[in-house]
Amino acid sequence: MNSNDSSKKMEIDVIIVGAGASGLGAAIILKKLGINYVVLEKDSVGASFRKWPKETRFISPSFTGNSFKMPDLNAICPETSPAYNLLTEHPSGNEYARYLDGVSEFFGLTIETGVEIDTIQRENDSFTIGSNNGEYKSRFVIWAAGEYQYPKKTSFEGDNLCTHFSEIKSFSDLPGKDRIIIGAYESGFDAAVHLVATGKTVTLFDSANFLELVNSDSSYSLSPFTRDRIKEVNGDISYHKETRVEKVELVDDLYTVTTTENKTYTSKYKPINCTGFDSSLSLVKSLFEFRDKYPLLNDFDESTRTENLFLVGPQVKHGNALFCFVYKYRQRFAIVGEKIAGTIGIPSETIEKVIQEHRENNFYLKDLSSCGDTCSC
Ligand SMILES: Cc1cc2nc3c(=O)[nH]c(=O)nc-3n(C[C@H](O)[C@H](O)[C@H](O)COP(=O)(O)OP(=O)(O)OC[C@H]3O[C@@H](n4cnc5c(N)ncnc54)[C@H](O)[C@@H]3O)c2cc1C
Repeated sequence: MNSNDSSKKMEIDVIIVGAGASGLGAAIILKKLGINYVVLEKDSVGASFRKWPKETRFISPSFTGNSFKMPDLNAICPETSPAYNLLTEHPSGNEYARYLDGVSEFFGLTIETGVEIDTIQRENDSFTIGSNNGEYKSRFVIWAAGEYQYPKKTSFEGDNLCTHFSEIKSFSDLPGKDRIIIGAYESGFDAAVHLVATGKTVTLFDSANFLELVNSDSSYSLSPFTRDRIKEVNGDISYHKETRVEKVELVDDLYTVTTTENKTYTSKYKPINCTGFDSSLSLVKSLFEFRDKYPLLNDFDESTRTENLFLVGPQVKHGNALFCFVYKYRQRFAIVGEKIAGTIGIPSETIEKVIQEHRENNFYLKDLSSCGDTCSC
């Protein structure tokens, strides 16, 4: 659905900002609960995934375990499976966006594309949402605008001289014989593996030591998929662990990278910045309180500063539990839906029926006390 009418006011119960994995997952829950909502999306369904480099694939595997109550790790609702839909274990960004298109169509979700939200204000128990398509009004807002389209460009001096991971359309388009990569978590190693595959020499700077760091929480450790890929190209990457980049300069037509230990490395080609992403929350930061860059949320993922404003997606964090993967953050959609449904006055039998289905399929995680458990072996 495309909406480019002149400025207008809409009264709606819930506005969801963003039609990525988390916005659509939240929309499905609201639809099942019979709540009036609209998803407002500035671009198209799954736009962030469509912007991934062509070669980049999901690190978390897809496998159709749904009928045995173990839904595909990359599914946004219990009824669907990217593996079943796409017939692949590690979808590319474009493939996953196709899955999201299919899910939107299957559930008949209400989505307006081409609507970019720039302001949200709360007055008299309702939100006024400013966009390029006029003002919208709603009682609740679910923020689902993600991170990918908000790259982090302040990790070191001179990052404007670099290409950010999110600006790469395909690794095979990048000219030159060698590349320096700054940042060695998932996106840094992803870039390294693909650049080696195109015949380039790669120098990779890791401010930590991610190759040796192993943690039982997948948010804090390289994935097995990435470790397998690294094994195949390890000899071709010049890997500098525990080496922080201080600045990048252009000196005599050479990109010159200086580390905090004052060593320099040069290349004729732009270094690639893989130091991660900021957050779309920068657009609405006055509506949240923050600790260590993460927003403070109550037990229902509602802003501690602004009542009826909820967050879904990879920026949700409670204590050390970071919900940065689909299989994690999808378990909070029903928590948000249940809270909104209860406030609106949806009959409790309807709420319980929907929540029960999600609970039975491991799509409902309320007790977070086990999130920090370590594996026994
Ligand atoms: C390289 C890479 C690999 C990854 N691999 C995995 C993986 O294997 N498994 C996994 O679970 N996760 C993975 N992730 C994380 C995953 O991509 C994110 O969890 C996911 O994109 C988050 O979904 P989202 O819907 O919250 O945000 P997004 O997908 O970014 O969606 C946000 C949507 O909001 C829209 N939007 C933004 N700003 C506005 C605005 N102002 N107004 C209106 N609309 C707006 C955007 O256009 C976009 O469509 C990976 C991420 C990256 C970068």
